[in-house]
Amino acid sequence: MRPSLIIGNWKMHGSLDSVRQLLTAILAQSESMASSTRIGVCPSFVHLPLAREILSGSSVSLGAQNAHAEEQGAYTGEVAAGMLAEMGLDYVLVGHSERRQLFAESDAEVAAKFLAVQKHGMQPVLCLGESLAEREKGISSEVVLGQLNAVIEAAGIEAFARAVIAYEPVWAIGTGKTASPEQAQEIHAAIRQRLAEKDAEIAANTLLLYGGSVKSGNAVELFSQADIDGGLVGGASLAADEFIAICNSAD
Ligand code: PEP
Repeated sequence: MRPSLIIGNWKMHGSLDSVRQLLTAILAQSESMASSTRIGVCPSFVHLPLAREILSGSSVSLGAQNAHAEEQGAYTGEVAAGMLAEMGLDYVLVGHSERRQLFAESDAEVAAKFLAVQKHGMQPVLCLGESLAEREKGISSEVVLGQLNAVIEAAGIEAFARAVIAYEPVWAIGTGKTASPEQAQEIHAAIRQRLAEKDAEIAANTLLLYGGSVKSGNAVELFSQADIDGGLVGGASLAADEFIAICNSAD
């Protein structure tokens, strides 16, 4: 039985004050949660020290939204995986569709980031997803499995024993449009099948999260699908009540 995991992706939102308030509220509410769902949050880089301080000793995990693949060097404005590891992080998102689209990250760069994050002892949350045009062409699985293959080829299937995968259809991120539970399950099953072709045990244990306009109103149905083990939540993770309601839907 796989545990459920919900990770909040706070993107480029928040201030020192609002991050403090949000984390304090999430912590207070998570302590009285009935479900055993694991919770994580990914604030912006600059809010990580504050988040680490507030979350210290709690069961809420901390992650970053991106990392550079190189150890160090002349990469102005970037943050290396090793620097993030020093912050005691659990997770780093890699290949989020906003990184792939807005910052032109290729499959090869995503794979390099995945490796760098693992090298420094953190778990990559590998984000995969097709665009609306690709869905309309009927090539969703092909696109998503192509993105997955690029990382399997670079890192090996064994690496997925220490990674999380998030299926996030690009057309559902921040749009209010959610994949139907059946659409999401179909792609999750294809991802698990691809992992199983390489290693059945790893496939059975890898957590597959769904992301794309998850809210408390659609979470139960999505999370009840056989291959959906939780969610990567953007907008709805910025309000503690809503985020905890989503976490409570995942048991
Ligand atoms: C995300 O950014 O990973 C995401 C899923 O966003 P939203 O929940 O707002 O669609």
